Amino acid sequence: MVENLKRYGVISSKRVAQVMEALDRGLFVPVGSSAYVDTPVPIGYNATISAPHMHATCLQLLEDKLHPGMRALDVGSGTGYLTGCFALMVGAEGRVVGVDHIPELVDMSIKNIEKSVAASFLKKGSLSLHVGDGRKGWQEFAPYDAIHVGAAASEIPQPLLDQLKPGGRMVIPLGTYFQELKVIDKNEDGSIKVHTETSVRYVPLTSRVEQLGGF
Ligand code: SAH
Repeated sequence: MVENLKRYGVISSKRVAQVMEALDRGLFVPVGSSAYVDTPVPIGYNATISAPHMHATCLQLLEDKLHPGMRALDVGSGTGYLTGCFALMVGAEGRVVGVDHIPELVDMSIKNIEKSVAASFLKKGSLSLHVGDGRKGWQEFAPYDAIHVGAAASEIPQPLLDQLKPGGRMVIPLGTYFQELKVIDKNEDGSIKVHTETSVRYVPLTSRVEQLGGF
């Protein structure tokens, strides 16, 4: 899978390739679904694990904010795959927080991580996964060098901007039907710079009731 992403020019970073090779996506997708094909996979509760090329793209966009000792927040952590990648990158001296509003998914993500090479970070406490409304971020460990949002919002939630460290970067899909992946850099003076990376298709960042409607 990682070899193909390299061949097609999606992965250019050695560090990102190493992390995605180390963390086995097969442990994070439901049994019987294709783990190593470049496609999103349904994980229940009207959610999906993102396609590997999206994980790779977001890791590369955030790579500079994922050095050992840094802090990262993963909103809409779902299976925990990307949260686990963050933990491998920032290491035991760093801090990674995943937040999802579906308790069953948070339980599942903890079990997935426990089976993986990221298990020790969970055990020692540099990685934690929580149930909560990710639109509020996770104040406890703020501010964050890196914030990733894994579901599409109609606008950037203010608490997430507030919890981004000066010098930090957020990657967030914005929009409803037509969505764009936005990269938001907070300058040292607190001002914000936004650029559009690419068009994307994510599940919405919404309330639990909205997400589970008709489920
Ligand atoms: N990065 C995850 C993506 C999962 S899909 C992965 O690749 O596994 C998006 C996730 O966002 C879903 O798990 C969904 O439950 C979650 N989500 C949607 N709205 C949310 C909200 N307001 N707060 C927290 N999580 C939310």
